[in-house]
Amino acid sequence: MRESRLPVAVLGATGVVGQHLVRLLAHHPWFALQAVIASARSAGRPYREAVRWLLPDPIPQSVAEMSVLTAEEIPEGVRVVFSALDAASAEELEPRLARAGYVVVSNASRFRMHPGVPLLVPEVNADHLELLAFQEDFAPGCIVTNPNCSTIGLVLALRPLQERFGLEAVEVTTLQAVSGAGYPGVSALDILGDVIPYIPAEEEKLQTEPLKILGDLRGQRIEPADLRISAQANRVPVLDGHLLCVSVRLRREADAEAVRACWLAYRSPIADLGLPSAPGRPIRVLSEQDAPRPRLHAHLGAGMEVSIGRIRPCAVGHVRFVALVHNTIRGAAGAAILNAELMLRRGWLSLEHPKAGA
Ligand code: NAP
Repeated sequence: MRESRLPVAVLGATGVVGQHLVRLLAHHPWFALQAVIASARSAGRPYREAVRWLLPDPIPQSVAEMSVLTAEEIPEGVRVVFSALDAASAEELEPRLARAGYVVVSNASRFRMHPGVPLLVPEVNADHLELLAFQEDFAPGCIVTNPNCSTIGLVLALRPLQERFGLEAVEVTTLQAVSGAGYPGVSALDILGDVIPYIPAEEEKLQTEPLKILGDLRGQRIEPADLRISAQANRVPVLDGHLLCVSVRLRREADAEAVRACWLAYRSPIADLGLPSAPGRPIRVLSEQDAPRPRLHAHLGAGMEVSIGRIRPCAVGHVRFVALVHNTIRGAAGAAILNAELMLRRGWLSLEHPKAGA
């Protein structure tokens, strides 16, 4: 039977995010996973041997015996590569692959703020995909990115408030899980029984990426949102799930009840597109007084929902709340796959476009 799904590869398939991509793509209805790619350290070995598998589900059978390839060995026919490379490898490899004709759907930070690269959250700024029509730096392929893992939770929470009340200023303090640092990541001796009030470059990402995502598409460029953000990032001894403690100053004053009602009434603007990874409702409002909590709520909606709780008045801004995002699913692998699903639906990917391996 002829394969009707789009052939794809995962770049950085042995890492923390790469494993989630492998898990989510192994049985995807629209994409067929044809290659797992990692560094020369892993290449040539069966995936099950090269990877230090960290997920509770077993390695998908269809992938376990695949031989890990290098980026020079992507099989013919593959058009889309999901990248879970570290930033340094992404800087060199992602443009090279895009210029060779591949569509690179990336988790890495290196090209997120490039003016021609969509920094995409489908529920928030699907129209930013139009940047691809003018993205010449990486032609004939292209690069599309998803934001930093905490940023995704923040912008999903803020978007309904931006539409309804306008946003003036945001203060956010994050409590971020260790899986956000990749594998082996932070040493147990550093994190057990402790909190590390520093994550390299994280605060800068939280202060800049939302302005692009919440900005307006004007012709060939994004006009950043007129919004001030102050961010503080902490690493905490939690496995999965980044918690964000947020205070927000709105442009039109609103109390905590109005803000809660705004989130409860929010409907995903992409709900009708039938994207397989899109949660029915991207925001879940929790009413328990001690929610959300990473262990109890990070996996809601298969890890694709953002949970919000503790909505209350703020003496500095207008309203305070706590949001929770699953960092390796909604904040990384699931986000990249949702981006690619939107691209397919909107006609930016097809079996004919663009040519692979040129
Ligand atoms: P990681 O665990 O360190 O994995 C890095 C992957 O890149 C490994 O598979 C590694 O393969 C591969 N790699 C390194 N050099 C390579 C090369 N020259 N050619 C091909 N593959 C190469 O990192 P991670 O946590 O999964 O993160 C991946 C990316 O996603 C990073 O850019 C990170 O900033 C971003 N991100 C992570 C999260 C999160 O929550 N973890 C969230 C959002 C975004 P080997 O095993 O062979 O070394």
